[in-house]
Amino acid sequence: MKCEMAKDNVILAYYGELPDELAGSLEQHLMTCEECRHELEAIQAMETPLAAIPMVEPTPNLLAQSRMRLDDALDSIPPHGFLTRLRTNFFAWMGHLRSAPALATLLVGVGFIGGNFLNRYEVASQPRPRTGPTYTNETHAVIGNVTGIDRTPDSELVQVHYNKIVPETVEGSLDSAEIRELLLKGAMAPTDNVRAESVSMLAGECKAGHQCPSRDDGKGVRNALLVALRYDKDAGVRLKALEGLEPYVAQDQKVRDAILDSLASDPDAKVRMATVSLLEPVQHDSSVRKVLRNASTQDENPYIRTVSYNALQGSDSIQ
Ligand SMILES: [Zn+2]
Repeated sequence: MKCEMAKDNVILAYYGELPDELAGSLEQHLMTCEECRHELEAIQAMETPLAAIPMVEPTPNLLAQSRMRLDDALDSIPPHGFLTRLRTNFFAWMGHLRSAPALATLLVGVGFIGGNFLNRYEVASQPRPRTGPTYTNETHAVIGNVTGIDRTPDSELVQVHYNKIVPETVEGSLDSAEIRELLLKGAMAPTDNVRAESVSMLAGECKAGHQCPSRDDGKGVRNALLVALRYDKDAGVRLKALEGLEPYVAQDQKVRDAILDSLASDPDAKVRMATVSLLEPVQHDSSVRKVLRNASTQDENPYIRTVSYNALQGSDSIQ
């Protein structure tokens, strides 16, 4: 037996972990080698003071991690021999570790797991610094939504991914595509004022004949005004939408239908009243006359009944 192996075996022997087949040759070596005898005496001398140091119980998590690392290390070693027993006896060793602080020394002596184990032990035992969260690309903005959460395994570290809403202002012509796009979004904003302003400006563009075509894809300014007229909860916004749709009553069936629906069922009298005058260019149309007739007899507002009736008389005189 060579000295290097003997020194490892001395430690194993001290903790009663040396296989019997190696005990004999170690004993022989110790009889002839003074250096290795010193090694044994050094271990015995270290045991007493080390035993006085209180030992922190390793967490089950730490033990499991060390066990995995040990398995990996042992997998790279050919089977048989006393190293295989390290794996088998690992948890028996852990018993030593709990009762005998000197196992730290043992692990250093064994070497191949010592560095890893002690390093992890130190890391796990260190008090965690309590610091605030760190940001990447922090901007002064409102958090919009959380898009993902990652937790670093076996730790308190969490990564939260999120989007921020950054306030911006853009200035430009009403005819520019960017401003149009924003106004279309504004027409559906939750804030009444924003919707009213947006719809008012879009209506003004339609009245001026600026890019307000009918589109089949449901997009565009004219469609936004139709949506506002039919669905906006604010009567002022619906009135603004009506203004913008006025130029298209005669040529666009969708516009005419939406205005007729408003006359028949809009809850606000001002909106219903405004539709009557808008329908003037098409009051000879049979569907328009039908709705006007209903309004002239059934609208709860007497003034609307009157103007509807007058509109019908006017169309009669034309025909
Ligand atoms: Zn020796």
